[in-house]
Amino acid sequence: SPTLVWLRNDLRLTDNPALHAAAHDGRPVIAIYVHETDPELRPVGAAARWWLHHSLVALEADLAQHGIAFEVLSGRAGAVLEKFVHDKDAAAIHWNRRYAPAERDLDAATKLKLRETGITVTSHPGNLLVEPWMIETGQHKPYSVFTPFWKSLRNIPIEAPLPAPKKRAARKTRSVDGGYDIPFWAPKMAQYWTIGEAGARDALGAFLDERLADYPDGRDIPAKDLTSRLSPHLRFGEISPRQIWRAARMRADAEPTLAGSVEKFLSELAWREFSYHQLYHRQDIAEISMQGKYEGMRWRHAPNDLAAWQAGQTGIPIIDAGMRELWETGYMHNRVRMLVASFLSKNLLTDWRLGEKWFWDCLVDADMANNPASWQWVAGSGLDAAPYFRIFNPVTQGERFDASGDYVRCWVPEIAELSDKFVHKPWEAPASDLTAAGIVLGKTYPRPIADLKDTRQRALDASAALS
Ligand code: FAD
Repeated sequence: SPTLVWLRNDLRLTDNPALHAAAHDGRPVIAIYVHETDPELRPVGAAARWWLHHSLVALEADLAQHGIAFEVLSGRAGAVLEKFVHDKDAAAIHWNRRYAPAERDLDAATKLKLRETGITVTSHPGNLLVEPWMIETGQHKPYSVFTPFWKSLRNIPIEAPLPAPKKRAARKTRSVDGGYDIPFWAPKMAQYWTIGEAGARDALGAFLDERLADYPDGRDIPAKDLTSRLSPHLRFGEISPRQIWRAARMRADAEPTLAGSVEKFLSELAWREFSYHQLYHRQDIAEISMQGKYEGMRWRHAPNDLAAWQAGQTGIPIIDAGMRELWETGYMHNRVRMLVASFLSKNLLTDWRLGEKWFWDCLVDADMANNPASWQWVAGSGLDAAPYFRIFNPVTQGERFDASGDYVRCWVPEIAELSDKFVHKPWEAPASDLTAAGIVLGKTYPRPIADLKDTRQRALDASAALS
């Protein structure tokens, strides 16, 4: 009878504790993935479904090379697994933990049910640097502020990553079933990514070799490709945070001049841990404001504004550039994510949950913890959130972080011919400049849908009204 490993957000062979344990118990191993239809779980977003499909294809090939069978199933996880265990007469099953409340409940119930059948069930820590309950304040409470969380995390010894299982005789691959709904618009994103474990490893290597030194200053410049772009690989567990941590620390040891850059990079990785800390310790962070008073916020119902924001047609170049980058690539630069989220939740006074849902559907890195935690951080309702009076001005932010206008010119070609002076605020350009640049405001490019000054004040008033 075989040992099973149930893969979920950990689609890799290296540093995979569940797979490692399964491969070491001496029995044949079958890896499984379940497209879960349990209604209590958050369904995978559209862009992420496209990534997932290709990630499963890559995983299947990698597993086959190692002689490990792979089955993709579909249905309610508990029932599907029970049947599979029975059909295969499996002796043991392993998985790596996940952390959303609904996922934990489901896994706990599944574990109990499977154990009743006499099978050994083991869950492992595989997706975080430190399990969320292993890190706490001096008062034995969860952290609600990032800096002390990071100070605590950075001193915890992180174990070395595990090797991939030893190769057995290679197997033939059978193709992963694409029998789930991949959106028609997704394949255009393929040109921007190499999906799968090998792609993740290459992305890390290229980042450490070519961009790490410039990361601390350059990471805020959206036109420069200076961040790691590891987020979708992390989302699907094609690489583990422990592998990233270890490789970056080794780089700092080898080249002490890079120590500052490594520290900055790892502190960003720690934000991911902090998001998971919140996901684990709080209630449904995609639905409930972590600061209770925000549940009383009087959000506007403005479907036209929301639609303009989604389509990258707000008339504010850096906002439109970000939303179009998202639509085209499945990704958006972090600085611009903050700007578009602030614009939606503050200038347009639109419920952050609507923005979070749009991101959830469009991002290839749409993450159960990072997405809602970041949205709440920007909207002001999150833990350790930006103070309510911090409302990004997209024009001054654009002029600061995209001074040459390269980013907006790339994604909003209608205004590419405007001078640097007006490229972030075409509505202020003299008529002659607009004509020379071939722009007719309201026709070739929208007028701004919001007055930045008035809407800023409206957001301040709305926040002040919260008791
Ligand atoms: P790098 O700068 O190279 O950082 C390396 C890794 O550290 C990232 O892959 C990510 O795992 C982590 N990280 C970096 N910045 C942050 C951050 N601010 N918060 C949490 N983790 C971070 N990230 C997601 O992974 N999925 C999401 O769904 C997501 N939604 C977001 C929504 C909003 C409104 C905002 C403001 C941010 C969101 N982020 C999300 C965080 C951040 O924008 C991305 O992680 C980052 O842009 C990914 O690019 P990178 O891998 O090149 O980052």
